[in-house]
Amino acid sequence: MALSQVLGVRTPGDFWRVALTRRTYRNLLYLLTAFPLGLTYFVLLITGLSVAFSLIVIWVGIPLLVLTGLMWRKLGEFERELAIMWLGVQIPPMTHPAGEKASLWQRLQQIARDPMTWKSLLFVFLKFPVGLFSFIIVLLALAIPLSLAATPLLYLVALVAGNSVDPLTVLILTAAAIIGVPCFFLGLHILNGIAWLQGQLARLLLGMSESERQVAEARAAARVAQAQAARADQSRRELIVNVSHELRTPIASIRGHIESLQMAQHQTDGSPANQQEYLEIVSRETERLSELVDDLLALARAEAGELRLTLEPTDADGVVEEVWATLAPLAKRERQVTLVREIAPDLPPVWADRARLVQVLLNLARNAITYTPAGGIVSIRLAQPNAAHLALSVADTGIGIPEEELPRVFERFYRTDASRARTTGGFGLGLAIVRDLVQAMGGTVGVASRVGQGSTFTVTLNVVQQGAR
Ligand code: ADP
Repeated sequence: MALSQVLGVRTPGDFWRVALTRRTYRNLLYLLTAFPLGLTYFVLLITGLSVAFSLIVIWVGIPLLVLTGLMWRKLGEFERELAIMWLGVQIPPMTHPAGEKASLWQRLQQIARDPMTWKSLLFVFLKFPVGLFSFIIVLLALAIPLSLAATPLLYLVALVAGNSVDPLTVLILTAAAIIGVPCFFLGLHILNGIAWLQGQLARLLLGMSESERQVAEARAAARVAQAQAARADQSRRELIVNVSHELRTPIASIRGHIESLQMAQHQTDGSPANQQEYLEIVSRETERLSELVDDLLALARAEAGELRLTLEPTDADGVVEEVWATLAPLAKRERQVTLVREIAPDLPPVWADRARLVQVLLNLARNAITYTPAGGIVSIRLAQPNAAHLALSVADTGIGIPEEELPRVFERFYRTDASRARTTGGFGLGLAIVRDLVQAMGGTVGVASRVGQGSTFTVTLNVVQQGAR
């Protein structure tokens, strides 16, 4: 970079204009504050380090040392901001945004391994001598030309005092004043040059270089991948344990009843009525098993990102009508529960995969019917709480869900204590599937409940905005 560019002097006019630019005064401010700041850092760090090292034998020194190190780095970050603000330099970031949350110990390790830590420490340490140097230069560069320019005052003082001044002295004083003015402007240019150099130092030591940025990026990506792999591994292990646990009961039941059937064939006491009952149990259990396998498949697809939905403008009221027509007679006949629907008029269409929305509503309504005692009411409501959303809710007058269990009902295989105590009911996968499907449709699902009074599950879907069709 040419010197003229560094000093900002491209035309002769720029030489004089330096006193009028804001940049000059910001640079001056930076150079003047560098010394007191550098001195403060120096005292802080030396005190921190010496106290930490003197206490290192009684362990207190170690956290003190860590604290001093962290303070050191924070000072580096502050200096970076200062250089950007006052010197106007572009400095790349000091850290790469870590994608994953790390523990305190991991973060400390990362900080210690980061070359930026050591570079910024060097900068903070150098701030004291560099600041002292800048301070002296500022004083010299401004004081000498200003005093030169002010020399005619001496002449005036002498005149006022009644002394005569010889012409040679007058000549020298006038020449000094004439030289002093451009020297003052030159001094400002020199100070701008020194500020530029300090800006370059800040850029070098307080921002990541391209290669460091790439390494930090690769490290952050590796950390994210590692954490994802660990989570996937954990969830696979949990899944195997849960699936094995869920499979045991129906398989044991099927085996037991088949054995009973086999024994009945050998002995004569197996009446056809008994055999029919055993066969019904076997058939029911195999049905549950195949439901479990279907649910597992749906979850596995969602987890593998293979849940392919066709989102299109869908009339949610049609979905409510369909589910109501399917379940209302069954609910009345088998569980003496009344299923009602309330649909607000003139609702706009929503973005949804119709078949999947039916599946979501069926799941919620079936749960509501299952967990509501005879004589209860389950209502499916469709309303528009605001211009952008429709709310599809299923409210029941059933057993309810304890508050502490509410956040967990959408987890895979989670069943509340009340439902685990029952012989019937699913495997705790239905709501996990509902959540996956609703989220895949860009919506949300939530629940509110009171034990003994009932539960309300609400699905919020995005309205198709006019013109988007
Ligand atoms: P399941 O197939 O066991 O019903 P879900 O994932 O659909 O599994 O539901 C998880 C658990 O949430 C259920 O086991 C039950 O304890 C509770 N639950 C779901 N819906 C209701 C409801 N309407 N009323 C009370 N409890 C409910």
